[in-house]
Amino acid sequence: MINVFQPALRQEELQAVLRVFESNWVGKGKVTDQFETEFANYLGVERTLVRSVSCCTEGLFQSVALLGVGPEDEVILPSISFVGAANAIAAAGARPVFCEVSRRTLNATAESIEEKITPRTKAVLILHYGGVPCEMDEICRLLCEKGIYLIEDNACSIASQYRGKPCGTFGDTGVWSFDAMKILVTGDGGMIYCKNAEMAQQVEEQLYLGLLTKSGYSGKADTRWWEFEISCYGRRAIMNDIASAIGTEQLKKLPDFISRRRQIHEFYSQALSDLEWLQTPPDIPRYVQSSYYLYWIQTRADIRDQLAKHLRDNGIYTTFRYYPLHWVKLHGPHPALPNAEEAAQTTLCIPIHQSLSDDDTHKIVDSIREFGKRL
Ligand SMILES: *Cc1c(COP(=O)(O)O)cnc(C)c1O
Repeated sequence: MINVFQPALRQEELQAVLRVFESNWVGKGKVTDQFETEFANYLGVERTLVRSVSCCTEGLFQSVALLGVGPEDEVILPSISFVGAANAIAAAGARPVFCEVSRRTLNATAESIEEKITPRTKAVLILHYGGVPCEMDEICRLLCEKGIYLIEDNACSIASQYRGKPCGTFGDTGVWSFDAMKILVTGDGGMIYCKNAEMAQQVEEQLYLGLLTKSGYSGKADTRWWEFEISCYGRRAIMNDIASAIGTEQLKKLPDFISRRRQIHEFYSQALSDLEWLQTPPDIPRYVQSSYYLYWIQTRADIRDQLAKHLRDNGIYTTFRYYPLHWVKLHGPHPALPNAEEAAQTTLCIPIHQSLSDDDTHKIVDSIREFGKRL
């Protein structure tokens, strides 16, 4: 089966893990500190603004807490979002308010957000669908005008930029995922960016039991080093040196990953452009950089599922991201969102990852074209 997503973990990652094993310290330590530093450098932000986290979902929960979102508050997010984003809002006692997406880009827009703003709106939580940035000038202008916080779910958009500025650094917080299905994979893991160092320090304490002193060899005390104080009722949601060692190696390869993905994206768009029953993703604006996380095709609702089945029968796995959250019973009931609903019925994400061979991508295109001949 050709996977829709797949990690690219090789000898370099294995060797880095071996070095961690040999150091006899596999918990959060120097290697994690190094990974955080390199990630901050990669983004071009101050080291003090970035902390690693056990997963991106935890980063979303932390973001919501950090911004003081609670009962009586509303947080707007596109219905085409990761379920953990809505869970984080609802678990804080606030109301997730789902907004529309653009039918072709599947991104929220300033207009679709504005429609849902009420006096209770405390924050907006967006993602950059498939790696293509939202129109950040318009969204930031709107939120700034209204005094509303912005959380950026950057799980799709690790290498994305909008007018030269990295996605994930536009808002009050930004969160990244390194789970098994993302571009940069550490097994599980994530990163959180905060607008200022005080917020990042607060997150660090929340992520490690509220401890004010560092554990392990890094402790400075030379007497009674087992005593401690806490600043808050923190959880334990940190990365460890095994995952961070993998992350450090993956980060070096990220530019190559992105360029391979871009190549595949361009190949699909060119090879499928003449099929009148199918739409390839919209052109990527010249002033942005995508991460090419998803490649999505759109077709008629009555044939989308047959196409998915045909491809699966031919050994090609596809999926749709992200199932509309206003259709999830526990998050409903919620007013209809025609664009999001249409996108959910017509869109299919086909395989795109850095380990795909040219044989794979040709097979995928051939299978799609073959399906078209039978229509
Ligand atoms: C994968 C994903 C997440 C969650 O990441 P984890 O690290 O698995 O918690 C959040 N948002 C989006 C858009 C994702 O694709």
